[in-house]
Amino acid sequence: MINRREFLEAVAVAAAAPMLAHQDSAPDWGSPVFDLHFHLRPQPAGNLAHQDGAGVTKANLLTRGPALDQVKAVQAAAPGRFTWFNSYDVTKPDAEQALTQAVKDGAQGFGEMKFHVAADGPELRRMYALAAELRVPILIHFQEVDHFPNEGTWSTGFAKNFEAVLRSHPRTTFIGHADAFWANISENYRNESAYPSGPVKRGGVTDRLLADYPNLFGDMSANSGNNAMSRDPEFTADFLKRHQDKLLFGSDCGCTDGRGTGASQANNPGAARIAGKCVARETLTLLKRSTTPEIFQKIVWGNAHKLLRIPA
Ligand SMILES: [Zn+2]
Ligand SMILES: [Zn+2]
Repeated sequence: MINRREFLEAVAVAAAAPMLAHQDSAPDWGSPVFDLHFHLRPQPAGNLAHQDGAGVTKANLLTRGPALDQVKAVQAAAPGRFTWFNSYDVTKPDAEQALTQAVKDGAQGFGEMKFHVAADGPELRRMYALAAELRVPILIHFQEVDHFPNEGTWSTGFAKNFEAVLRSHPRTTFIGHADAFWANISENYRNESAYPSGPVKRGGVTDRLLADYPNLFGDMSANSGNNAMSRDPEFTADFLKRHQDKLLFGSDCGCTDGRGTGASQANNPGAARIAGKCVARETLTLLKRSTTPEIFQKIVWGNAHKLLRIPA
């Protein structure tokens, strides 16, 4: 039973609902959208809620450790809308075995690889070799600057040492992501901040590596990707054009509803510029206004399908 006040409130909400639903409807991006960088959420429905809220067609679930049952549940609830990658602690001796099994179980890549090791160290080199052997891409988080005290660094040495890795693992498909990858689009970056701002100086390491190495791709997710593409509109338009076959949209968004509710970039005071916003929506909006519809469609849809060898 509800009382009169509750009844009137319910009527008022119902009357307002169609209007709100319309204003709040998921955006149409003019292209289907594949979110390469979406961390698996514990509640199956939470995964789909973000996609639907942000106007995302398909998402790639990034998982760590045993995840097959959860992935299957999410895929069963929304057939055709989720692929998945798996990661595993690269310092553990059974990492190769676990990741090989994940690929046998249907994982289409390794990632996100985010560990406190060097990018050219033995732990990750084992994974680069295995990714080539299994013919799956490997997605790496590169970070040299703490977001909060004592966070530590991840896959270190990108600017100095990653070119040698690309050269010595030509059969491995690498997908670069996170702060150090994106900050190094500018030639004058020296690890002074996680998210540098201001005009981009041409000739940055990342820009050069994307041009020179066919086995390197860029994942545009998170505040890092969004920040990099927000710095210098003229550079951005040219960068998207030049690397149109090498860039992949991803969100790395933690918001609950694809509309910015909750924390979009958890635990990260450095990403305050995107607080209260959905990273997927923000980056899709930015990409759409920065390039042509043809290039936009490649970056948000076509390239990922080619890379994962799945039908679009
Ligand atoms: Zn990451
Ligand atoms: Zn979001």
